[in-house]
Amino acid sequence: MARLIFITGGVVSSLGKGLASAALGALLQARGYTVRLRKLDPYLNVDPGTMSPHQHGEVYVTDDGAETDLDLGHYERFTGVASSKADNITSGRIYQQVIEKERRGEYLGRTVQVIPHVTDMIKEFMLAGADEVDFLLCEIGGTVGDIEGLPFFEAIRQLGNELGRENHAFVHLTLVPYLEAAGELKTKPTQHSVKELRAIGIQPDILLCRSEKPLPEDDRRKIGLFCNVPKERVIPALDLPSIYRAPIAYHEVGFDTELLKVFGIHDAPQPDLTKWDWVVGRVTNPEGEVRIAVVGKYMQVKDSYKSLNEALTHGGIVNNVRVRIEMIDSTIFEHADAAPFLEGFHGVLVPGGFGERGVEGKIEAVRFARERKVPFFGICYGLHMAVIEAARDLVHLEDANTSENSHPKHPVIALMTEWIKGNRVETRTETTDLGGTMRVGAYPAVLTAGSHVEEVYGSNTISERHRHRYEVNVNYVQQLSECGLVVSGWSPDGRLPEIMEIPNHPWFIGVQFHPELKSRPFAPHPLFKSFIAAAVQQSRLV
Ligand code: GLN
Repeated sequence: MARLIFITGGVVSSLGKGLASAALGALLQARGYTVRLRKLDPYLNVDPGTMSPHQHGEVYVTDDGAETDLDLGHYERFTGVASSKADNITSGRIYQQVIEKERRGEYLGRTVQVIPHVTDMIKEFMLAGADEVDFLLCEIGGTVGDIEGLPFFEAIRQLGNELGRENHAFVHLTLVPYLEAAGELKTKPTQHSVKELRAIGIQPDILLCRSEKPLPEDDRRKIGLFCNVPKERVIPALDLPSIYRAPIAYHEVGFDTELLKVFGIHDAPQPDLTKWDWVVGRVTNPEGEVRIAVVGKYMQVKDSYKSLNEALTHGGIVNNVRVRIEMIDSTIFEHADAAPFLEGFHGVLVPGGFGERGVEGKIEAVRFARERKVPFFGICYGLHMAVIEAARDLVHLEDANTSENSHPKHPVIALMTEWIKGNRVETRTETTDLGGTMRVGAYPAVLTAGSHVEEVYGSNTISERHRHRYEVNVNYVQQLSECGLVVSGWSPDGRLPEIMEIPNHPWFIGVQFHPELKSRPFAPHPLFKSFIAAAVQQSRLV
C-alpha cells in the first residue's frame, strides 16, 4: 500500500500547487521511490473538456482519452509517469457516479448524503491502484474554505485517520506576501489559512510558503508557532527563474527530507539530481536564441498553451538555445498584412483551437511561412489552416474552408462521422453533445517511407494524442498533393490523414494530433526538437 501525500492550498489560487506536487514527485523519484500523482478538482463540470482555455487554461489529454486538468501535464513532464483517466476527477464526476449508483438502487433505500456517500466515492477514487507505487500524491484543487472543496477536505481528513500516522502526510501550500508599503513579509494570511484547515480537522504536517523574498528565520518560527508545525517543516518556497529548478530548490531547503521524516523515514538515500542540474544549466545558459511566433487565439491566459510552451522550451533545451516565444493574436492579420509582424521570426507555429474567430488571420500566417520558406508547424487546427490555405492558394478552390464554422462549397476539413477506436466503431453527428464526443486520446499512425516526418521520428509507426472533431477531408487529398502538400502520415486503416507536409520547403509540417502533450524536458518530442533545429538554421539566414 502506498503512502499518501495530500497537497492542499490556501490564501489564494494560482500559487503553483500543481508544480509543487510535480516537483515533489520528481524529488521522491530521485531518491528511488515510485510515485503517482492525482488531481481532485472541486468544480461541478464533469471534466474540463468543455471549459474554455480562457477560464481554466489548457485541457490536458491522456493516452486513454481523458480530458483533464493541466496540472496532469506538469506531473507527466516532471515524473515521466503517464497519467490516465484514473488520475483526475471533479465534483461533477463524483456526484454523477453517486447519483447513477442511487438510480441503480445500490444504496439499498438509504438516504444518500455528502458524508458518507460522496466522501466514500472520493476516497475510493484516491485509493484505486494505490498498492502499485511507494507514494501517491493527491492534490486538491482550489483553496481551503471553498464551499465546493469541503467534501474533498473531509475525505482526506477521514483517510488520514484510517491510514494511520506513518502512512500519510498533509502538505499545505500558502502565500507569504511581501507588502511594499510596510517593507516586510506578512505571515497572517498563512496563519488564517491554517486556522481554516484545522477548523475542519486537518493539522498540516508541512507548510510550503510561497514568497517573492527570502523568508527570515524569525518568520518561519512565528508561522510554526501559530500553525502548530515545527519550524523546520515551515519550508520557504521562493519564486524561481525556471520551473525546472523546483526539485533542486526544494531539496536545498529540506522539503523532501522533512516530508520523509513525517513518514518515519530517516535513512532514505540522497536524491540523485544530476539530470535536473543538467536541465537547469541548459535553460539558464543557452548558447543562442530563436524567436518563434505562435499565432493563435487564447492570448490573455498564460496557461492556455501550457504544454505547447513547455514543448518548445524542451526543443530549445536539446538544441542548446533559448526559445523566445511570442504570442500573436491572429485577428490582427485580418486587418493588417502579416509580413511586417512575422518577418524576423525563425519559425511560425499555429496551435490548436476552436471556432471561427481568428481563422482568416491564421491562414495568413500559414501563407507567409509557406511562401517565405520559414519553418512552419501546424498543430491540429493549425493543420486545418494549412490545408485551407493550400486549397485556396495552390489548388485555387476559393471557397475552401472547414465545415466547423460554415457550410463551404469545398469542405476541405470535415466532420468525420465514424472512426475506429481499438476494435470499436465510434460515431458522432452534428447534434451529439459537445462534452466527451471528440476523437480524443492516443491513436496510432503510419508514416510514409522517405517522408520528412519519418526522418524526424526515426520510425514509421507512432502513437500520438488527439482532441478534435474535424478531419482533413480525404476527397481533396489528391489535388492537394499534386500542388505540393502531401499526406505523410495515415491512420492504420488508411482512412484519416494524420500528418501533412510540403516536401519542397525547409520545414513545413502539420499534424492532426497534439505532440506537445508528450514532450518531456529529458525526452523532448522529436517534432519540437526538429522544428527548433530548423529555426536555428533559419536564424543563421536572417
Ligand atoms: N477545432 C478543431 C476540431 O475540433 C481542432 C481542434 C484542435 O485544434 N484541438 O477538429
